[in-house]
Amino acid sequence: MTAKIINGKDIAAKKKIEIAQEVKQLKAKGVTPGLAVILVGNNHASRTYVTNKQKTCEELGMYSILIEMPEETTEEELLTKIKGLNGDTKIHGILVQLPLPKQIDEKKVIEAIAPEKDVDGFHPINIGRMLTGQNAFLPCTPYGIMVLLEESGISLSGKHAVVVGRSNIVGKPVGQLLLNHNATVTYCHSKTKDLPFHTKQADILIAAVGIPNFITAEHVKEGAVVIDVGINRNEEGKLCGDVAFNEVSEIAGFITPVPKGVGPMTITMLMYNTVQSAKQSIE
Ligand code: NDP
Repeated sequence: MTAKIINGKDIAAKKKIEIAQEVKQLKAKGVTPGLAVILVGNNHASRTYVTNKQKTCEELGMYSILIEMPEETTEEELLTKIKGLNGDTKIHGILVQLPLPKQIDEKKVIEAIAPEKDVDGFHPINIGRMLTGQNAFLPCTPYGIMVLLEESGISLSGKHAVVVGRSNIVGKPVGQLLLNHNATVTYCHSKTKDLPFHTKQADILIAAVGIPNFITAEHVKEGAVVIDVGINRNEEGKLCGDVAFNEVSEIAGFITPVPKGVGPMTITMLMYNTVQSAKQSIE
């Protein structure tokens, strides 16, 4: 294997130490950063995610509440709950775990969260601020990817970054953040013709597709930095990314594994955003 492994677990652990330090300082000033997580319905994966978020809050000395609402919750009930949290001074971050049951419009819910408590960075105001290079809560997974690149000493200016995937939560924002850092960015998606032609030009290749082992050696330029966002299950039910790790790591210069790559950074940046929100509340 030639590629250097970017160990997201280690980088997340380092960041968490810094965050815990900031929590301590804020507590000394009488403010405990608080995160409210709303879980609607019984999605098994969602429950695991919110449990992990709560555990991490606890680990970092933060305050957290979990609000569980039944599957049949109406949009109005959820919006009322969010309104209450918008006005709750103990809460600095509000996260509504997605996906939501089909009777609830996700867009309306995201827009109901006060932008200054939108620690997921999904509110159009935060997206717009990110787009125009203003101070904003950055979406956690893309932000985590940027931290992984920075901590690994990978320079972005003038590099060609190719992002495969254009979702609102990963593909689009990570491309925008790379652009903000002076990379030249190409987006690829399901309608892209001759995908390997594009991906082979990448100095930095971001795979956010959701298909197990989709990016293979034929997609990757020698020495490229390959960031695998995918969290998938292969045919044997084993966790795997979007990148065929064994063959791509023979060619790439740097690569993130799955697990222990991008995944641990997402929760870490959620905690970071919540602490920044708490800080801003006293500034
Ligand atoms: P989406 O399903 O919302 O988006 C997938 C994207 O991949 C779409 O833009 C789609 O294109 C594109 N795509 C699908 N098929 C192809 C193809 N054959 N060729 C090129 N592009 C294709 O997924 P997400 O962005 O939400 O998530 C992507 C992956 O990242 C998933 O595995 C998810 O589990 C994981 N994830 C991991 C996180 C973490 O913390 N590590 C956080 C969030 C997600 P089109 O737009 O044309 O349909």
